[in-house]
Amino acid sequence: MATGTLTIDLDALRRNWQALDRASGADVETAAVVKADGYGLDAGRVARVLAEAGARRFFVAMAEEGAAVRQAIGPGPEISVFSGHMPGDADMIGDLDLVPMLNSVEQLTRHFEALPGHAFGIQLDSGMNRLGMEPAEWAAVSEIALSAGPTLIMSHLACADEPDHGFNAQQLAAFKDMTAGTGVPRSLSATGGILLGEDYHFEVTRPGIGMYGGRPFQDATPVVTLSLPVIQTRDLEPGESVGYGCTWQADSPCRIATVAAGYADGIHRAISNKAMLYFEGTACPLVGRVSMDLITVDITHLPTTPASLDILCADQGVDIVADAAGTIGYELLTALGARYARRYTGGMGA
Ligand SMILES: *Cc1c(COP(=O)(O)O)cnc(C)c1O
Repeated sequence: MATGTLTIDLDALRRNWQALDRASGADVETAAVVKADGYGLDAGRVARVLAEAGARRFFVAMAEEGAAVRQAIGPGPEISVFSGHMPGDADMIGDLDLVPMLNSVEQLTRHFEALPGHAFGIQLDSGMNRLGMEPAEWAAVSEIALSAGPTLIMSHLACADEPDHGFNAQQLAAFKDMTAGTGVPRSLSATGGILLGEDYHFEVTRPGIGMYGGRPFQDATPVVTLSLPVIQTRDLEPGESVGYGCTWQADSPCRIATVAAGYADGIHRAISNKAMLYFEGTACPLVGRVSMDLITVDITHLPTTPASLDILCADQGVDIVADAAGTIGYELLTALGARYARRYTGGMGA
């Protein structure tokens, strides 16, 4: 079998959510963000495990994702949609009991007309200039919106992964200004905001990346292991090169392993000549360019030829590989390809 094996530890996921739940504080509800198919790890399985652990509210990016999560977890937990109520969403929102976070007067009107009496939340723009109503827009419709009983008022922080960034306090103040005295549960913080402290927690927090083992949650337990089979090895003489463009050259006799995964599997081409793979704790440098289906690894210093090498493991989490690619753990996880054999350990249905 020449496909890599992606192992997802659902117990680690559950422990990370529980740790973020504790960090959110006793009187605060900790929801879970499962957009982009649960950061690439399977939103249905992730949501089932977290619902069992006590999560009562899930967030997705769009209604279609919400429909998939509803099918996986059944009725009960609230499923909220960040993109709000878009044209064509009414049936899905209504039939599958989704809660759109309404982002504009246009969405508010659409929702009230299509699904009068159906649950909704409000998303406010506290400065990120991405989603949500701006202060003037909100001031114009807050009375009518509040009288219809939103389940939640939320906003999102732009710089929460940088605790010293002055914009955090600015957004906090803007959010408080827009929501003081509404009596509606409020949510401002994703993973980064939870770590900023209780001023940022309000009634509901919304962690994503920290549950999946990524920064800025430094105490996270790793969730993902990615093992890649070695297809063949070859011995090189000094002066021989490896891979497209001959970008790496042996300067002494060496042994190169050809490993089955490439940029089509989410191994970013940008890590060419930069990242490490691991065999039982020993680092082996990726040499030459990442190609579509293959990477090449210097295993000269290993005593034997391994059957597989790990690119994500206890020695190397998603953030280290993401750093080598010049990106973030979020992008690495959501890019993990469809060709891997997926194994789920822990949780229900393991
Ligand atoms: C993605 C997202 C989250 C989760 O963020 P993490 O940094 O992954 O914890 C929360 N809220 C909104 C609006 C998001 O888009």
